[in-house]
Amino acid sequence: MVDPKFLDTNYLVRNVAICTSCNNHLTPINQETKGRTSGNRLYACKSDKCKQLRIKAEVFDNVLKERIRSELNRFAGTSLVNKIKIGLNNDIDKLNKKYKIIQDGIEQNNKKQREIEYKIHKLTHLEFSENNRNFIESFTLFKIDLSKKVEFLEQELQNISKQKELINEVLTNENYWLPIINALKKQREDICKHEWRLLVTEIVSAIEIKKISNQKFKVEVRFKYDLPSFQFTHNEALEEKRGTQYLLF
Ligand SMILES: [Zn+2]
Repeated sequence: MVDPKFLDTNYLVRNVAICTSCNNHLTPINQETKGRTSGNRLYACKSDKCKQLRIKAEVFDNVLKERIRSELNRFAGTSLVNKIKIGLNNDIDKLNKKYKIIQDGIEQNNKKQREIEYKIHKLTHLEFSENNRNFIESFTLFKIDLSKKVEFLEQELQNISKQKELINEVLTNENYWLPIINALKKQREDICKHEWRLLVTEIVSAIEIKKISNQKFKVEVRFKYDLPSFQFTHNEALEEKRGTQYLLF
């Protein structure tokens, strides 16, 4: 479930947009003056080597809204829900496989522990010698190591169970997806800020951005649930021009 606070942002792709050069999330920066008369809201890469990656947030958000919506509307309505369900079932399958592998790992570790216990047991019943004592010590340390490993693996199993629970109880529940599906059906202007953000956080897994030249970027939008990703070139200057024209007519 998405924290409502997480939805309340003026930056549509906050924590979703990634700089492909350094793999860091882009940081929202507000350079607007009071009353928004000048300056821009930006997404910027803060890593030292690629500080020059800066995208104007408003233009970029608008372009993404249009692109994401038209892409998702290809699977609109039930078809999108089905896609999501298939994706979630695949996730559950993957988690089940991982669970089984970890369970096997725990079993192997337990078997090793029993063997070591038996060796220690035998050694303690032999006549005392310096060598024996050293062996017992090493075996005991090994045994402790193994039990720590088992503890860690058991924690992993719990994490997997929790993830499965979330998928089963929340994500596969159709009511959870209804607001998103309904938002997609609305007119562009009628989709509110929260709904856009919900769409982006729930369906988009990452937006990868690479600077081509000044104000030109290669953008790849990756979706969750095995929905096909798509690419486009974002020409900021052109989109800014188009944006003003859109407002004029
Ligand atoms: Zn970067």
